[in-house]
Amino acid sequence: MSRFDKSSDSGPSASVIGAGFGGIALAIRLQSAGFKTTLIDNRDKPGGRAYVYEENGYTFDGGPTVITDPDCLKELFATAGRQIEDYVTLLPVSPFYRLCWEDGTHFDYVNDDAELERQIIELNADDLDGYRRYHAYSEEVYKEGYVKLGTVPFLNFKDMLQAAPNLMRLQSYKDVYTRVSDFIKDEKLRRAFSFHTLLVGGSPFETSSIYALIHALERSGGVWFAKGGTGALVQGLVRLFQDIGGQLILSTEVEEIKTNDNRVTGLVLNGGSELEADLVASNADVVHTYAKLLGKHPRGRRYGKSLGNKRHSMSLFVTYFGLRVKHPELKHHSVLFSERYRELIKEIFHGHELPEDFSLYLHAPSVTDDSLAPEGCSAYYVLSPVPHLGQADLDWDEIGPKYREKILTYLEEHHIPNLRRDLDVVHSLTPFGFRDQMNAHHGSAFSIEPILTQSAWFRPHNRDDQISNMYIVGAGTHPGAGIPGVVGSAKATAGLCIEDFSGALGARAAE
Ligand SMILES: Cc1cc2nc3c(=O)[nH]c(=O)nc-3n(C[C@H](O)[C@H](O)[C@H](O)COP(=O)(O)OP(=O)(O)OC[C@H]3O[C@@H](n4cnc5c(N)ncnc54)[C@H](O)[C@@H]3O)c2cc1C
Repeated sequence: MSRFDKSSDSGPSASVIGAGFGGIALAIRLQSAGFKTTLIDNRDKPGGRAYVYEENGYTFDGGPTVITDPDCLKELFATAGRQIEDYVTLLPVSPFYRLCWEDGTHFDYVNDDAELERQIIELNADDLDGYRRYHAYSEEVYKEGYVKLGTVPFLNFKDMLQAAPNLMRLQSYKDVYTRVSDFIKDEKLRRAFSFHTLLVGGSPFETSSIYALIHALERSGGVWFAKGGTGALVQGLVRLFQDIGGQLILSTEVEEIKTNDNRVTGLVLNGGSELEADLVASNADVVHTYAKLLGKHPRGRRYGKSLGNKRHSMSLFVTYFGLRVKHPELKHHSVLFSERYRELIKEIFHGHELPEDFSLYLHAPSVTDDSLAPEGCSAYYVLSPVPHLGQADLDWDEIGPKYREKILTYLEEHHIPNLRRDLDVVHSLTPFGFRDQMNAHHGSAFSIEPILTQSAWFRPHNRDDQISNMYIVGAGTHPGAGIPGVVGSAKATAGLCIEDFSGALGARAAE
């Protein structure tokens, strides 16, 4: 019998709660390894943060749009004996990002050395040598922090101690902005090479310089966009999971993870039905998983409370809009910096109010892919990082519409003339959406904040310390948020599941 034989329903059973990228990736790996795997999500479509909104012929990716490390996706398909090309097409994006400042200057962050260096010289010729040294540093951190440790579960403090000397040598105790500033003097270039931590929910002024690896990750693997949108990638992965016999259940909230002493036994679903399982893995928010789903077990209550008190990443205010015209002059990804950087980010991460100004990320996928909007039209989203609800207890139902107007006015004045005249459809996702639709603690967009003291062993573990057949996958566990991060977490978690159930899997293979 083939490992991928879909007719088999023997093998240990696995239930994965949450069909985000991490949950789907884990479900594929478990099903491929011989587990009879069920993937359950509370929403009507899979994807989690990568949910797709469809409106009047427009397709809006809800969340991730910058696809990096395509190899981690190819590996996932290969694990199931398939090829990514048969499921989804990845298109290269260049520039990776256009970075825009309010004084009208911009910087096209490209993968071409000559063009990148020409622009660095234009901003500050003295920084060229510094940039080259920074790039070399970033490559070293990438090898150490991502290639070596990105898919290894940190279950014991010993693992942390083993990694520590190299992490110290790479000065991981410094934050990304400080480390970038060790090499680069120009303030705009410092921003250009430090803003990336925001893409995984961290402040450049507080996130460990290990995250400087993102620069090398992008330069070595490129930045990609899935044809048809990130949603097409999600669909491809779900199709793969179903092709190898996995079962997907949507529009179903898991209410409880059932336990017997220190073992999970199954799930209670909304409506009261029950699903037995030999193992359970949660891709849902970690506070929700422990405090609510495992709330009847002392471990769940205790650990859920402690996780609730950890630092959580910021939230986002995202506005999806369609225009009746096209704007081919825009770049696929743009970062629009406010004049303030350090102070604004501090207010987002530590303030108790909504900052007056904003820095924005503008997604304009129609410049790469015509299929996302009706003919002659174009699709967008614009996001603004905002404090989470535990930080600033704001009534987004009230302030959301005004905040959206402010952002659209800014875009119209600086980047998209006549935006309002051409507006066809528009809707927003607020921190309330992250909280209510995705069960995210404080409406955080990226889960536990990726500061050094909440990373690796200090992050919730890929397998629970006490409940031995309970696992975690996704942004809340090691290594953390972002598609490569959560796909890496799935590899780490699947490795543990396969090891723990090797007896049962071996017996099945021998059948
Ligand atoms: C707007 C935005 C833009 C981003 N841009 C990028 C980008 O360009 N590139 C990148 O790499 N990363 C990006 N990220 C980060 C990335 O999207 C996330 O880190 C990643 O997708 C999270 O995946 P996950 O596996 O943790 O699961 P999630 O996406 O968090 O999915 C978890 C799922 O579990 C479900 N769930 C929760 N509770 C229950 C329950 N009780 N029962 C059933 N289901 C439940 C949730 O509803 C959700 O569907 C972005 C994030 C956001 C929000």
